[in-house]
Amino acid sequence: MYRLIFLVSIIFFIGCSDTTPKPKVDRSDSLIVIDAGHGGHDTGASCAGLCEKDVVLEIAKKTAKAFKKMGYRVHLTRGDDRFIKLSGRTKIADRKDAKVFISIHANAIANKKRFNIVEGIETYYLQKTRDARSQRIAVKENAAVLQGTDGLSKHVIIDSVLTGPKIIESNKLAIDVQNNIMKSVRKAYPHAKNGRAKPAPFYVLVGASRPSILVEVGYMTNDKERAKLFTPDYQERIAKGIVAGTTRYIDNRKRELGF
Ligand SMILES: [Zn+2]
Repeated sequence: MYRLIFLVSIIFFIGCSDTTPKPKVDRSDSLIVIDAGHGGHDTGASCAGLCEKDVVLEIAKKTAKAFKKMGYRVHLTRGDDRFIKLSGRTKIADRKDAKVFISIHANAIANKKRFNIVEGIETYYLQKTRDARSQRIAVKENAAVLQGTDGLSKHVIIDSVLTGPKIIESNKLAIDVQNNIMKSVRKAYPHAKNGRAKPAPFYVLVGASRPSILVEVGYMTNDKERAKLFTPDYQERIAKGIVAGTTRYIDNRKRELGF
């Protein structure tokens, strides 16, 4: 009997001592497309010599790595500093038959007096909104595609955003991702501001035939937040939150509809 207990303990010990992270569930059927915003000549927001396109690429790469660790297949729309048209980004998700599309951006405001007041993490899903602030952020992120178009085509472009079967699913994904980013970040930064999940007409999410969100990971224009954004630890926490939120979303959908 004692010999049996001893043997069982040894087996248990060997089992526990194996610390290599192994995905418990087979997730290889799920492909995630991660989109680092901007790139190349399109720097995105720039502040104190630092550019949005660089920080979002770092976070996108860390997010891709964290997804792979969980057993997902991952595709990055850009893995280096290059420009991709906004319209091409969701097309990649369609071509690859992705489960979800996640675009990563960093925020900025124009009013210098409020630079160190406005802060926080926000996750957007595609929908028309009357909220002026969300509209302003969308206009900024849409600039790369709206440049040179006249007023009428701008309205056509924005209106084409508004009908999509995936709005509800994208809304659910946005909530799960936002909640999990906050959980992950607040373990080290308890006062990080929760800007919540919100609707906005982002062009990069147009035409997405799958659940699609845009995460604004923090404000480049806020000194404290910008300093955090460029640390590997903060980037890692954002990445982990995105993966945990997406996993929660996919697992729930799988239970509900065999997603
Ligand atoms: Zn951006």
